[in-house]
Amino acid sequence: MNKNPYEVLGVARDASDTDIKKAYHKLVMKYHPDKNPGDKAAEEKFKEVNNAFDILKDPQKRAAYDRFGDAAFAGGNGASAGAGMGGNPFGNGNFHFNMGGDMGGMEDILREAMRGFGFGGAGFGGEGHTQQRGRDLLDEVVIDLKDAFFGTTHTVKFTSAVKCEKCNGHGTADGKPAPACKTCGGTGYVHARQGFFAVETPCPDCQGLGKKIDKKCSACDGSGTVNKQRTLDVKIPAGVMDGARLRMAGMGEAAPNGGESGDFYIDIHIRPDKRFQRIGNDLLMHNDLDFTTLALGGEIEIETIDDKKLSVKIPAGTQVGEKMRIRGHGMPNGRGGFGDLYLEIGIVIPKKLTEKQKKALNEFAGTKPSKKSWF
Ligand SMILES: [Zn+2]
Ligand SMILES: [Zn+2]
Repeated sequence: MNKNPYEVLGVARDASDTDIKKAYHKLVMKYHPDKNPGDKAAEEKFKEVNNAFDILKDPQKRAAYDRFGDAAFAGGNGASAGAGMGGNPFGNGNFHFNMGGDMGGMEDILREAMRGFGFGGAGFGGEGHTQQRGRDLLDEVVIDLKDAFFGTTHTVKFTSAVKCEKCNGHGTADGKPAPACKTCGGTGYVHARQGFFAVETPCPDCQGLGKKIDKKCSACDGSGTVNKQRTLDVKIPAGVMDGARLRMAGMGEAAPNGGESGDFYIDIHIRPDKRFQRIGNDLLMHNDLDFTTLALGGEIEIETIDDKKLSVKIPAGTQVGEKMRIRGHGMPNGRGGFGDLYLEIGIVIPKKLTEKQKKALNEFAGTKPSKKSWF
């Protein structure tokens, strides 16, 4: 459950972008992992602060939070964008914002923080104007265990905003960056007087962007982006785990007004396999053998996940329920090695026996030392 972002940043509901930014910078400095090495509580705070800022820095997200509260950013994988926040370009997949509690690791959050400090190019820069970042996109895919073993490529087709080629994303007729807004001098805000106080409000002339397009690009009408059908080949690495979330940096939606593109995420689900059960990097396979092979020992042939035939020695006296380890025939471990394959031994009892077999079994039973002692 996300905390109230206003409370997290310690700002009022009607706080200005500048106030939010200031509060964020102060808190993020305080809780930054570099300043609090190994401090879990600080790390948690740092994440909270970033999550809160992620919502409040974006006018759309902030409005959604104000209207729908947490429901707009409900945690967990099923979270989808709140109403009125853009359609779903995938049909089957989800489509939602970055930075729910479980999204991305520290790396993403640090990147987010860097952007906040104005080092990341786009985002809140030092000049104070609001540069919107392109939205992150999320899709999901279900693959077979064998695909997870070998790695695979998943092709996604969808429509999203892309940078307008004609103006190179600037939205200008000449394709050059838009000049600074004359009204606010490029800062994105103007000072207004409210009683005794001078307050900063977003520049009405450039809507806080700090730049003003004189003549709009005809292809994108000045937005810098156009909607386009896209095809993305997502490389799914060998050994990928069920529930993994892969990120393709910068492959999300293009930002309006030449800002930084969002990222593309894909959630991986692995279909249960008929033969193999996966336990971490190991695989478990059930094998029913006949009584004589278990009692006398023998050699059986199994087929591994990568369709290799493998001959396995069964020692005499193998018990039902025993697990035999076959090294290196599990899943790729992501470090160049492989997990192990475990054979779980079961037994298959014949339903029909020939007279000869019955006789042999009776003879075998007769050799038991505890012969019919219960009579
Ligand atoms: Zn302006
Ligand atoms: Zn354009």
